[in-house]
Amino acid sequence: MTDLSQPGAIPGAQAETGVPPPLWLLAELTYRCPLHCAFCYNPLDYTDHHRELSTAQWLNVLRDARALGAVQLGFSGGEPLLRDDLEVLVEQAHKLGFYTNLITSGVGLTEQRLGNLKDAGLDHIQLSFQDSTQQLNDFLSSTRTFELKQRVAVALKKHGFPMVMNCVLHRYNLPHVDKIIEMALALGAEYLELANTQYYGWARENQPQLMPTREQLVEAEAVVARYRAEHGERCKIFFVVPDYFENRPKRCMNGWGAVFLGVAPDGAALPCHAARGLPGLTLPNVNDTPLREIWYESDAFNRFRGLQWMKEPCRSCEEKERDLGGCRCQAFLLTGDAANADPVCDKSPFHEQVVKVVQRAADASTSAAAATAREQPIVFRNDANSRRFAAASGAANVRGDHGGQP
Ligand code: SF4
Ligand code: SF4
Repeated sequence: MTDLSQPGAIPGAQAETGVPPPLWLLAELTYRCPLHCAFCYNPLDYTDHHRELSTAQWLNVLRDARALGAVQLGFSGGEPLLRDDLEVLVEQAHKLGFYTNLITSGVGLTEQRLGNLKDAGLDHIQLSFQDSTQQLNDFLSSTRTFELKQRVAVALKKHGFPMVMNCVLHRYNLPHVDKIIEMALALGAEYLELANTQYYGWARENQPQLMPTREQLVEAEAVVARYRAEHGERCKIFFVVPDYFENRPKRCMNGWGAVFLGVAPDGAALPCHAARGLPGLTLPNVNDTPLREIWYESDAFNRFRGLQWMKEPCRSCEEKERDLGGCRCQAFLLTGDAANADPVCDKSPFHEQVVKVVQRAADASTSAAAATAREQPIVFRNDANSRRFAAASGAANVRGDHGGQP
């Protein structure tokens, strides 16, 4: 009998399909979160998906994903610490042989829970900050959590966890990159992920306020290079230039249905974090479809897998194996069709959309009119705003709108 708790134990699946197994499982345990970040990547209508898998259902997902071949496991959300079965899930994941990572705001990470998670076998923790200053950290998350995060960072080191500090960058905090790095060094982070905002979900709503200028990015990159040269041994600093400022897209998720398998709180299986926003893509659910079938056979995971789905200019492009046409969600958001080339690419007939956004950000730093636009209120991620978006998207579906911006 096949032992399905062992990786790659599904007999012959890769040989039959030619599709490699997933390597990375992201378990989004809940959409509940005590923070209200302006750049949150959760869906705008998350309140429409409030149902959560039970402990037993999550345990099945872990077992099945490991049997498929997944080796890395991220627990995220929302705030995964709001699930009081987190320790049970970590323990099971550890027993199955996953390398486990908790992605958290730090809220709820008490000494007691840190000890329990250590005992359960958690490998590492990614702690998010919004900025190096209390004022901006608390403003952007619409909470008073800066000091708590500092205390959590100290406790986390005390319990012997390696720490990845994460800070999402945008026009408000890019000028503080040096201070953010200093904070990471002072708190003993082994890794610092300076993640420039990706404009999906709530960040997309707040793009006029969050979009940086090219000058801000160039300056921040120079600062990062200086610190890397001086402190690179102590703390590995990641800094990825945001897509909008490039002429070629990134190889998004390392390919659709190639390595990444996300599972949303309600059991919807996601080929990428933002796939929930793609219309016409029916996401299979782990409650009614075996994970193996989801990965290898579902329409959602096969729709943009490989190269066959491509339209021109990607179809005949000599660079298609390198970037796989870029990001499907960005293609949809900016062109209205997820099968188009990512408009970040200057070969895309929609590239002008990206140029305009960058230009608007440049204007916003100088012109009075655009400065006024930036004063429009930030839409914070909270239940009331989410219900408003859910109601609006329900009405749009009834009307047959697609929500894109051709
Ligand atoms: S980005 Fe902020 S609001 Fe969204 S899940 Fe993370 S901590 Fe919560
Ligand atoms: S045309 Fe398509 S495949 Fe070619 S570089 Fe642009 S996005 Fe990549």
